[in-house]
Amino acid sequence: MEYLGWDQVETGAILPSFEKEIEDIASTPREERDYAPTNSYTASVADWRVFKPVYNRDICIDCQNCWVFCPDTAIISKDKKMVGIDYEHCKGCGVCAEVCPTNPKSLIMFAETVDNEEALASWPEKKKKEK
Ligand code: SF4
Ligand code: SF4
Repeated sequence: MEYLGWDQVETGAILPSFEKEIEDIASTPREERDYAPTNSYTASVADWRVFKPVYNRDICIDCQNCWVFCPDTAIISKDKKMVGIDYEHCKGCGVCAEVCPTNPKSLIMFAETVDNEEALASWPEKKKKEK
């Protein structure tokens, strides 16, 4: 297979995700997938992110909302359990935090410069229902 530079690819060209067909992609761990050079999985495409989602395992109910709605496949989930965030691909759009249903949220957006441990230490308390 011949690989072209980004400025040589013509409209309608097919960029394969994998070097060869994978029979059961859902149960093949990411690290065992044979990614093609044309797949952005092996590249970091998140260096312009300004805000990042921070994940709090203690509150998460594994509903998978964030995984379903993330437009960039940057939520890592295994066997229907939320694992974390792929910071190499997350763009910081905030959709995952928006759709997280817990109280307080299990995903909250913080400035990129805030340390994750610091963010977890400043997590908000549960909001009381208004009567
Ligand atoms: S901030 Fe956006 S891109 Fe990043 S994990 Fe959440 S939904 Fe996905
Ligand atoms: S949306 Fe929130 S509660 Fe649901 S899996 Fe994601 S982090 Fe967990």
